[in-house]
Amino acid sequence: MNKLQTGWLYTLTGAVSAVSLAACMPASKPYNIVYIMTDDHTAQMMSCYDNRYIETPNLDRIANDGVRFVNSFVANSLSGPSRACMFTGKHTCGNKFYDNTTCVFDGSQQTFPKILRENGYQTAVIGKWHLESLPTGFDYWEVVPGQGDYFNPDFITMNNDTVVRKGYITNLITDMSIDWMENRRNKEKPFCLFIHHKAIHRNWLPEIKNLALYEDKTFPLPDNFYDDYKGRPAAASQEMSIFKDMDLIYDLKMLKEGKDLSYIERMDADDRKAFDTFYAPIIEDFYKRDLKGKELAEWKYQRYMRDYAKVVKSLDDNVGRVLDYLKEKDMLDNTLVVYTSDQGFYMGEHGWFDKRFMYEESMHTPLIMHLPKGLDARGDITELVQNIDYGPTILDLAGISLPEDMHGISMLPLLKGEHPVNWRKALYYHFYEYPAEHMVKRHYGVRTERYKLIHFYNDIDVWELYDLKNDPAEMYNIYGQPGTEEVTAELKTTLLDLQQQYNDPVRFGPERDKE
Ligand code: CA
Repeated sequence: MNKLQTGWLYTLTGAVSAVSLAACMPASKPYNIVYIMTDDHTAQMMSCYDNRYIETPNLDRIANDGVRFVNSFVANSLSGPSRACMFTGKHTCGNKFYDNTTCVFDGSQQTFPKILRENGYQTAVIGKWHLESLPTGFDYWEVVPGQGDYFNPDFITMNNDTVVRKGYITNLITDMSIDWMENRRNKEKPFCLFIHHKAIHRNWLPEIKNLALYEDKTFPLPDNFYDDYKGRPAAASQEMSIFKDMDLIYDLKMLKEGKDLSYIERMDADDRKAFDTFYAPIIEDFYKRDLKGKELAEWKYQRYMRDYAKVVKSLDDNVGRVLDYLKEKDMLDNTLVVYTSDQGFYMGEHGWFDKRFMYEESMHTPLIMHLPKGLDARGDITELVQNIDYGPTILDLAGISLPEDMHGISMLPLLKGEHPVNWRKALYYHFYEYPAEHMVKRHYGVRTERYKLIHFYNDIDVWELYDLKNDPAEMYNIYGQPGTEEVTAELKTTLLDLQQQYNDPVRFGPERDKE
């Protein structure tokens, strides 16, 4: 008996009755997985999570028919490190991809696509990779170098050639993914396909046909847009302010003659003409008004929100195309569809764009799933989950036993509608990329259902404590305040326990001093 058949038996004896299973899934048909991950797509900009800003009808299809995780987080809120955590099922200290600036992913290490492949699955990754070394553990891959380009992007092929693909990147990645499912895979074998979008990454360059969308919409300012960062020195010293740090040319397209135009040089002439025609009156108006202070900050915020929303529109359309394809091919009953992002993002909260901080908007990441037949959970799942759990969950779904050294845990019981009483009560987080772009200090911390304790270290030594029930926007650092002694002590114990459990050498207190 091969391992896939073993897995099938595991499923049979696990969650569902033989009767219902026999009706929905023949023994020779293990589950497929379509894993769609975007870059910097935050839950505030998905209407299934937040209805203040935009509509995302296709993403909502996934959430409405399946499950929505409301306490879903990353282990390190930055592209490469987050992807490394996801693929290895380990915190950064375990996979050693600490930051985007100095690290190359060690592709010889264990990843869950490799384990799937060893157990009879076909694996493919298409789109953004961002781990510096070439992909390993995939039957098929085609990835963009670095961050990739929105228009006519380069792709690195399995021959290690670089080819230019004509078109808009979100459409191209979807075209290639559907083509792989339809024409390139072995249809006798189950598969796990990773569709990794560049969208919604900076500099939020919309598809030409969507340029005019949202131009008549005024987005409400977040309540803490004008945060003064009182009691939070690390938050005060960052460089990710919409007002101060968002670039008028690169980010907001207020092109001036003689300035760097490299990001639009890849456009075809017709697209470039449409782009210039659209922006010309906005640019003229902007420079004529010579905005300052709050007027400039709020003008930048509106342009940022509109551009981001336009890029989401193409993404949502393309998620719809994948869902339609799976439906048309009658594959939905047998396929787990995951939609997530490599982390959340600030849409003006604290006055910011970007991510990195352990604060809610960027530690949180959207996670919604269409569940195949046999998995009965529906609606909201409230347990604390993290991107290190994705690998264990997918391996478990495939009936493959989990390697003991993975830090993540399988969410499969949650997908079956169960609520294990011993589910984890705390999540660990560690961000390392400093000094670097946006200047967010190194920090680690622990988040429980109600509290968050953060330690900023390296060239600073500051603790922060938040009561998320009374202060969900994390505006009041209550560390050291009378009455918090007990909860602080408990959280520090939990934090140290997690650092020991994950063998993270950056510890505080007596344990660190021994090392
Ligand atoms: Ca990202």
